[in-house]
Amino acid sequence: MPGLSERMNEELNKQLNRELYSAYLYLGMSAYFDSIGLKGFANWFKVQAKEELEHAMKIYNYILDRGGRITLHPVEAVPTEYPSPRAAVLRGLEAEREQTQNINRLYELAREEGDRATEVFLHWFIEEQVEEEKIFSELLQLVDMAGDKPQALLVIDARLAQRRE
Ligand code: MG
Repeated sequence: MPGLSERMNEELNKQLNRELYSAYLYLGMSAYFDSIGLKGFANWFKVQAKEELEHAMKIYNYILDRGGRITLHPVEAVPTEYPSPRAAVLRGLEAEREQTQNINRLYELAREEGDRATEVFLHWFIEEQVEEEKIFSELLQLVDMAGDKPQALLVIDARLAQRRE
């Protein structure tokens, strides 16, 4: 099997950077929730950040497996403050929707190039994005239901404290 094309190598490195950015984004949200005393939300976002690091490592390893070159671009700074819990969760949902588009564009490129291995590699990410958008939509729904009632937010917080993976 021929190696990655120059362009695919570069696009995969960009996606590697975007997964690291996602990890960073969720770590920032975790810090925010910690700062307002919602420890369950903080836990949930910390686990989410770890998951994003795993996504980054999957891409990192794949680039190497295909004989490509790793380029570690700078990871952009992220907020550690949000106007409200809802604003943070909404930003998470939007970020996952953007990520889905990024993965879809990569997939289109793999198809254009006839790069079957990358196409198959990306199947996992396509399925994962369905899951990511779902969990953020559900979380947003819960937070919307809670509205301005701290009691309701604390019930959600207790549930989110249980997330381990
Ligand atoms: Mg990801």
